[in-house]
Amino acid sequence: MDIHRLPMLRDNYTFLLHDFSSNIAAVVDPAEAQSVLHCLSHLKSELVAILNTHHHGDHVGGNAQLLSQFPNAVVYGGADDRGRIPGQQVFLQEGDRLSFAGRQAEVFFVPGHTRAHIAYYFPPNTPEAAGELFCGDTLFAGGCGRLFEGTPSQMLNSLAKLRSLPDNTRVWCAHEYTLKNLQFALTVDGQNPDLQQRIEQVKKMRSQSEATIPSELGVEKLTNPFLRWDQPALQLITKSQDAVKTFARLRGMKDQF
Ligand code: ZN
Ligand code: FE
Repeated sequence: MDIHRLPMLRDNYTFLLHDFSSNIAAVVDPAEAQSVLHCLSHLKSELVAILNTHHHGDHVGGNAQLLSQFPNAVVYGGADDRGRIPGQQVFLQEGDRLSFAGRQAEVFFVPGHTRAHIAYYFPPNTPEAAGELFCGDTLFAGGCGRLFEGTPSQMLNSLAKLRSLPDNTRVWCAHEYTLKNLQFALTVDGQNPDLQQRIEQVKKMRSQSEATIPSELGVEKLTNPFLRWDQPALQLITKSQDAVKTFARLRGMKDQF
């Protein structure tokens, strides 16, 4: 399975999963259809699935047009997004599985950004390979999504689920927000040497217009403040040792940043 990263709109990424042997493709969160169609025609590949993480326009905006070109494509989304995702046919819950090109993805229910948000995780298919996590607007490189429809405790639970995946998991999040996220991270976890190192790397990449996605979950665990609610430095700055309060205060500080 090949993963193509397609930049869209201002700072969105849509991901196209392509299988060589069967020449079929699936797309994660098509913000718009045009560049997906372009990539498909370049690969001479057939779109068989649209995997949506949540209902926001910058994640489902391409559904209708893609369906008009590929009427047999199956549209997947969270069970609680019923009525909010154009063309949705499959209503997924925590622990559900779906298959694409001989690989199985596991579904995590990760509410917080929205009340129905889900993530798709393809576990490694060989011992040396990395798993692939498509987490929409839940976990970002260096940050996490805003809480539009969920509570801090829901989002904390969702992020804890993702944090429990192996360190080498590749994190395919839906926006290029990394530099801004790390600039905030530095204000709350400035003594963290891994963070200091990462922000230098990311600055360099962005100055060359390089994408910072996918990131590696192990790096997120070391540098992303929203996965570090149990670290003393973050407990100190939020004046709390309660995980939910620490997380909520961090999220509040980021909202003001
Ligand atoms: Zn969103
Ligand atoms: Fe988004």
